[in-house]
Amino acid sequence: LNRRLTEFGTTIFAEMSALALSTDSINLGQGFPDTDGPEEIREAAVRALRDGRGNQYPPGPGVPELRTAIAAHQKHHYGLSYDPDREVLVTAGATEAIAASLLALVEPGDEVIALEPYYDSYAAGIAMAGGTRVPVTLRPHEGRFRLDLDELRDAVTDNTRLLLLNTPHNPTGTVLSREELGEIAKLAVERDLLVVTDEVYEHLVFDDAEHVPLAGFPGMRERTVTIGSAGKTFSFTGWKVGWITSTPDLVTAVRSAKQFLTYVASGPFQYAVAEALALPDTYFEAFRADLRAKRDLLAAGLTAAGFEVFRPAGTYFVTTDIRPLGESDGFAFCRALPERAGVVAIPNAVFYDHREEGAPFVRFTFCKRTEVLEAAARRLRAAR
Ligand code: PMP
Ligand code: GLN
Repeated sequence: LNRRLTEFGTTIFAEMSALALSTDSINLGQGFPDTDGPEEIREAAVRALRDGRGNQYPPGPGVPELRTAIAAHQKHHYGLSYDPDREVLVTAGATEAIAASLLALVEPGDEVIALEPYYDSYAAGIAMAGGTRVPVTLRPHEGRFRLDLDELRDAVTDNTRLLLLNTPHNPTGTVLSREELGEIAKLAVERDLLVVTDEVYEHLVFDDAEHVPLAGFPGMRERTVTIGSAGKTFSFTGWKVGWITSTPDLVTAVRSAKQFLTYVASGPFQYAVAEALALPDTYFEAFRADLRAKRDLLAAGLTAAGFEVFRPAGTYFVTTDIRPLGESDGFAFCRALPERAGVVAIPNAVFYDHREEGAPFVRFTFCKRTEVLEAAARRLRAAR
């Protein structure tokens, strides 16, 4: 293994899901739903397979039906216009979109700013591109993890090439506000930065939180690569269908890298996702309502079990602080939890460069059936 990758080892998600299996624990670690997405969309995938649509290499940029549906989705939900032929690229999940964007846009030695804690593939993607990561830490403030805009401004240097954002934010559940995004946009324009914005949890926002795409701010459309994923929006994480929307130049650049990573992927599933993106608003509303109830259920269970809970405004993760339980090392806590309580969670420290900042935080997912969440809450309370 080359030096760029040795620090990363095996992803925590594989490690923790294996631990859940070997200890027969409830897996609230890796974020994947235990209920598949809509039946009619599964049927659409079966139809595509049977009718021979996508069983051979689909076109490099993605099948036209899906690119058209992605553009229509951005227009319908956010009023953003993209040309399906030149400004949309289908990828093998958001993970490939992130890696291909970094490989295409970062020169060796460039600095890439990412919000810490960050989704683990960001660090590996920056490393594979030969970039230097510059984390800006979100810290607890009045019950949520907050971005310090001054710290973000101070992190920008003459070597900063790109800002890698994520909202709604995994693992903290923070949804950046319109005001915060406006400030970030001003900074990007002022310092002439590219922005890759991972918006895979765009439809998972609760209460009065609102997802606002960064690409809609003045001066941003031409410098922003926006990432989405059918894994999150339609509960098909195994299909690995993701996408980017951006300018023709940036899409062409990302495609240059993407063609040598996978070339293309997910043929028949692309047709099914095209149908999913056109689902009526009631689908998105029902999905949100279901997850909001599950968030409330798990948050209440974790509170009763003694955790300090940071109530997420978005995503399907809840970050907790274990210090009220007399614990301070999230790694040790998560390694012991399966034996102690029969539950698996993720230590947030893996998402930090400044590991000590993340040490007392532990993430649980709530994209599981109600009875599973109830059982996990009972186990955690009993093990208190
Ligand atoms: N970005 C974030 C913030 C995520 O949480 C995930 C899924 N864990 C991804 C990207 C990857 O998405 P996909 O499964 O579509 O590759
Ligand atoms: N995105 C999911 C999470 O954060 C898992 C992704 C993965 O397994 N690579 O839990």
